[in-house]
Amino acid sequence: MKHLLTIAGSDSSGGAGIQADLKTFAAHGTFGMSVITAVTAQNTQGVTMVQDIDAEVIEAQINAVFDDIRVDAVKIGMVSRPEIIKTIADRLRYYKPQIVVLDPVMISKSGYPLLAPEACATLVQELLPLATLVTPNLPEAEVISGMKVTMKEEMRPVAERILELGAKAVLVKGGHLNGSADDLLFDGSTERWFMGDRIDTKNTHGTGCTLSSSLAANLAQGLSLADAVAASKAYVTEAIEYSLPIGGGCGPTHHFV
Ligand code: PLP
Repeated sequence: MKHLLTIAGSDSSGGAGIQADLKTFAAHGTFGMSVITAVTAQNTQGVTMVQDIDAEVIEAQINAVFDDIRVDAVKIGMVSRPEIIKTIADRLRYYKPQIVVLDPVMISKSGYPLLAPEACATLVQELLPLATLVTPNLPEAEVISGMKVTMKEEMRPVAERILELGAKAVLVKGGHLNGSADDLLFDGSTERWFMGDRIDTKNTHGTGCTLSSSLAANLAQGLSLADAVAASKAYVTEAIEYSLPIGGGCGPTHHFV
């Protein structure tokens, strides 16, 4: 069995963050472990409070896992602040996991900042060069690249810029454009598009977390980058199709369809 580690924030409502990651790892038949970077108080309607975990506690969690257990892949989600990012990067440079999927989480769908504005540059400098694959949505891709994307044709230059910044491969998720939800995978040589129909639901809380965790699990299980993206996109699409209308806001995706 493959051992997967998520380094991310806790979502009390269970739809995103650490909870989505662990459910996704389980749904892929892998063993999930977690390093918690922040505790968020949130539900389907929004985030009400966040407490970041001290960087030294994050460091101790990472050390505890890697010093004892083989880690086949790491997924990184909410990383809040520059000190936290620097700590994670330092530990990953030391332990050198083979597969690192970076979901550059910045703002929740409800509009709450999950990454301090001053931490964006640190994330790019410290974590992008460690990423096997980075999975920005369009607003995140724009912040990372400093470029605007208003149409599909503009996704490729942004992907190229993100690779110049150090990531080995990038999946630019096109769901924020009107129309279909088409994603671009670029590894520096081959451009591959993954087409997706837009599903008419408001229950999409945690889709980004679920996709990046699924990618980490599929890559750890030996799938190629392109096969992992195809399989993970299919998994998330089904998770959205069967999403749960719980709570008064944006409900969670269904991890065990
Ligand atoms: N809360 C936490 C802890 C997260 O890591 C994420 C991940 O992106 C979110 C919330 C955002 O969830 P969403 O934007 O899908 O509502």
